Parts: sequence; C-alpha cells; structure tokens
Amino acid sequence: MDDIKREKYYDLLEKISDYTCRVKTFDREKFVGLLSEFCELFHLAKGVTEFYTNPRHEQEGNGEILIDYDNGRGEVEILKNRIVTPAYAVIIGTLYMAKDEKPLDDEELEKVDIVLRLVLSLVARNRLQNTMYKFAYYDDDNYPNLRYFMQNIERINNINNLKGYVAVCFNLKHFSIINQDIGKENGDIVLRNYFNLLNEAVGENGIVCRMGGDNFVMLFENYLSDHIFKLLSGVPVSYDEESGNTKRVIVSARVGAFVIPEDFEVSNPGKIMERIYPALQMAKQMDISPVFYDKKLSSGRERVMQVRKRFAEAIASDEIHAYYQPKVNVYTGEIVGAEALCRWISGGKMVMPMEFIPVLEMNMDICRLDFHMLELVCRDIRRWLDEGKKSVRISVNFSRKHLIDVDLTTHILEIIDRYNVPHDCIEVELTETTTDVEFKDLKRIVKCLQQEGIYTSVDDFGNGFSSLNLIRSIPWDVLKVDRSLLPVEDDDETSTTEKIYKSIVSMAHDIGINCITEGVETMKQIEILRNNNCSIAQGFFFDRPLPVEEFEKRFEDNKYIDLIS
Ligand code: C2E
Ligand code: MG
Ligand code: MG
Repeated sequence: MDDIKREKYYDLLEKISDYTCRVKTFDREKFVGLLSEFCELFHLAKGVTEFYTNPRHEQEGNGEILIDYDNGRGEVEILKNRIVTPAYAVIIGTLYMAKDEKPLDDEELEKVDIVLRLVLSLVARNRLQNTMYKFAYYDDDNYPNLRYFMQNIERINNINNLKGYVAVCFNLKHFSIINQDIGKENGDIVLRNYFNLLNEAVGENGIVCRMGGDNFVMLFENYLSDHIFKLLSGVPVSYDEESGNTKRVIVSARVGAFVIPEDFEVSNPGKIMERIYPALQMAKQMDISPVFYDKKLSSGRERVMQVRKRFAEAIASDEIHAYYQPKVNVYTGEIVGAEALCRWISGGKMVMPMEFIPVLEMNMDICRLDFHMLELVCRDIRRWLDEGKKSVRISVNFSRKHLIDVDLTTHILEIIDRYNVPHDCIEVELTETTTDVEFKDLKRIVKCLQQEGIYTSVDDFGNGFSSLNLIRSIPWDVLKVDRSLLPVEDDDETSTTEKIYKSIVSMAHDIGINCITEGVETMKQIEILRNNNCSIAQGFFFDRPLPVEEFEKRFEDNKYIDLIS
C-alpha cells in the first residue's frame, strides 16, 4: 500500500468518521458518495448492508438490504461483519471483489475492516434513532401521537407563532356502532381513511394526531376552517375498496375548538390542551358540536368543582329531595304511578337536575345520588303502606354510569328490602346505550332486575340515538316515549311526526312492552295518545313534579278525572 493511497485513505476515514459524530443532519447521498470513493480506492466491487429488527428476522431472512456500492463485478466475498445492537437488532456488512482482482494485503484488509465497522455502527445508530423516534411519536397503529402534537405546536410556534391557527380535539360519534356493523377490520380502515382525509385537509402546515381510541387532536390554519368543520360534522368514508364494491359509512365527530387569538402567548403547548379539552367535554355533555372555548367555559369549570364539593355535604344535610310527577291513565284520569325526580334545595333556593346532574355524571357521584333517591322513595312508600294509604309504582332514574357495577341488582335490592317494600312497587328507568359493551351490561342488568320482580323502563326513547333492534333484544317492561316524538299543535309536520309516534307505540305493543308518553302538555296531546292507544301520560298537563305532601293530596282529590272529561 503506497503513501498516496494511505493518505487518501486517511482523508476518507476522517470524512466518514465525521458522520458518526453528526446527530442531526445525515446526508445519505453524500455519504454513499464517500463509500463509493472508498470502494474504488481498494478496488472493491460491492458493499452490502443487511438490517434485521431481531435475530429471528435474520434467521427468516426477513429484513432490509441496502446496496451502497455495486460495479456489477462483485463475485468473491472478502469480508463480513455482524453486529447486534443492545436492542437486539442485527446489522451485517459484506464486501465483495471481482474474481480477477488482486487480493488485499493484511494492512489493506485491516483498514477496510475499520471502515466497514464504522459504517455498521453508523447504520445501527441511525436505526436506533428512527426506532426511538417511532416509539416516542407514533402509537402502535402508526398514528402520530399526543407527544408529536405537542412537539409540533412548539415547532410551529417558534417559527411564526400560532396566531391564525385553530386547535381542535374531537371524538368520533358512535364509532363502536360502526365497528359493530361493519366489523373491526373495516372499522380500522374507516379510521385510517378518515385520518388521511383530515391529514390532507390540514395541509403541510397543519397536524392531526390520535390521542388513543377514537380521540384525535388537530391544528390547522384558520382559513381552512369551513372545509375542516364540514368534514368533522359528517362525511362518507369508504372501506372494502379492494372487493371492487366500495362501501361507505358516515363518520362524524364531536368537537371542542379554540381559535388562537393574536395576543395569545403559548408559553407551553399545554395551554392549548387546557382549552380544547374542556370544550370537547362540553360538546359531549350538551350534545352540540363544535363547542368553541371561551372564558365562560373556564368559569364553568370552577362551577364544576363547586358542585362536586357541595354535593358531598348536600346528602348528609338532607338538601336532596324526591319530587313526584304523576303518571296518569288518559281514559280514566287515575294516577297509576309516578316518577321520582330529584330536587336540590339549598338556602331556600331550588336547584334543578339539569344544573348539577351533568356534573355528577362526570364521575361516579351520580351513583350516590341515585341510590340516595331510591332510599328516599322506599322511605315514602313504606310510610304510605304503614299509614294504610294507597301506593303506586314509583320509578327512579338510574344513570348509565351504574352499568359497570356488576352488583347493581344486589345494591338495589339491599335498599328496597331494608324498607320491606314490595319489589313491584319500584321501577328502574335507564336510558338506551350506543356501545356494544354497555349493551351487554344493560341486558344483564335488566334481566337480573326482572328476575327479582323489579320493573324496568327505557327512558327518553326517541331522544338521540334510538334503535328498535336494541329495544327488542332486552326484556324491558315499559317504554317511555320522549316528548320530542310527541306531535305538538300547529306543527306543519304534525302528520309525519304522528306517523312516527304511531308506529313506535304500536311496535311497543307488538313486542309486549307497555308504553308511556312523557312531556304531555295539552288536551290535544291527550287525544293523540288516546287515538294511538297509548294509555298512560306523564307531563305538565297533569302536574309538574310535586313535593311529596302535594303528591299525596292528588290521590285524595282525584283532580285529574275532571281535567280530562
Ligand atoms: P327524565 O327522566 O326524562 O325526566 C322527565 C323530565 O321532563 C323532568 O325534568 C320533568 O320535569 C320534565 N317534564 C315532565 N313533564 C314535562 C312537560 O310536560 N313538558 C316539559 N317541557 N318537561 C316536562 P327534570 O325533573 O328537570 O329532570 C330532568 C332529567 O334529569 C330527567 O329526565 C333525568 O334524566 C334527570 N334526573 C332527574 N332526577 C334524577 C335522578 O334522581 N337520578 C338521575 N340519574 N337522573 C335524574
Ligand atoms: Mg326519567
Ligand atoms: Mg324521560
């Protein structure tokens, strides 16, 4: 090996080893150029790098092969090196020469070996970096994750600050129903296609990331808002494209959004999450979308904390009361039952359920309220029975939050039996469910309650997502038709509304479920009930929910008989 070649070698070695010190910029083209020079200097014909994620993949030959240099004459293998990284990835480098080429002497072979090892350690480091990056910024399904979102918010903020941007966080509506309908595999395809659609819509300067499940976050420039909010409000997404028979489902989302104002200082990306997340919570609770963050929302959060704190004391200090709204037979005017509705009376002021139930629903506090209400109801029924008064069946609302309680029936029985109340005096009102997991729980609970002789009803049927199929496969006793399905006077669409109402009532009768209509306010509506054979009504026409003493008086007065005759 002559001095010129040696000098050239050291020069190349320095340049190649320089790459192993660089972390940020790796110019692959230039690097491959250096390797070609090196191969030519030592008359090498071909250099190959193999990369396997683990030794099993190496055995199976399931890896990546990179050919860094090849002059087409690599016939004889002259050197092979294999390294295993601390994470068990395997990297193998092999060098070849042409058959008629003069073999390398010991010194040359040693120098070639040094470069080969350098190259392998560089590949190992780059791969490790890529893998770490993937682990840190992508989830198991290869969607960019929340960390990616936060980091990019910071990056964009550093380049040209975030004014003129909109941040949103969204949750897909009824995605578990889509999965149930078209299968999980197709559901995954729908999710990916929807993600791609949004990713394209936010453009180069935007970001879409998945926070887990069907929850996403997104950042985009304000001028794209119209288009993007349209996509979020509902868009057909295809799947099963390969079968040549493309099918589509509508995907829509509930959205919490924050339009980043000009003077907004993003000291850390968490400031954005603090705004879009409560907006999404609000969108879910109120079932409206999108909800934009504003200052009122943050005062709403303070209220949440206050309600939580005060509720703990409210039960102990008897501030929660059971009010009773009569259920009345529309032909005879007779009271056939009542619904217990809670009222929080504090400092002489009455707080309505809608003001605090959504807060209690955010955690399991609502379950304490429902058990407490059941207890109040059982106490009243016990007293009526002891006083020889007439008693009717009272329904108590139970939140869906109870569905995960495997001992719910036992807990309910424990209260009813403690007051020695006949089981058929109690009806448990539950609302429909949209997820398959909840559906199984709901079915189990309704069956268990029925076995114990406790009545069950589907509350608010027709409000929101209703499915006759879901009703059919659970043995409910009573279907409570929501007031939104009840035709109102002077309604142009009365005839259509009445047709829907009619078919629901007759369907309920067909499958042997009793029907009651909620929110009946006028005599005309009473007539609609009569015309459609729905014999029981609950609503302001008869009475609002009443304090227990007034409810007791209604029995004595028989006031409703005059009202409907
Ligand atoms: P819900 O179970 O559907 O109860 C019926 C609601 O409709 C009651 O409102 C009642 O006052 C109202 N309503 C009755 N008749 C009419 C009418 O003719 N017109 C109109 N516009 N409204 C009528 P309230 O008492 O404010 O309760 C609202 C909701 O709060 C209840 O809806 C129920 O979902 C929930 N809730 C009330 N008490 C409890 C409870 O103890 N536990 C749970 N989990 N939820 C409760
Ligand atoms: Mg109810
Ligand atoms: Mg209801």
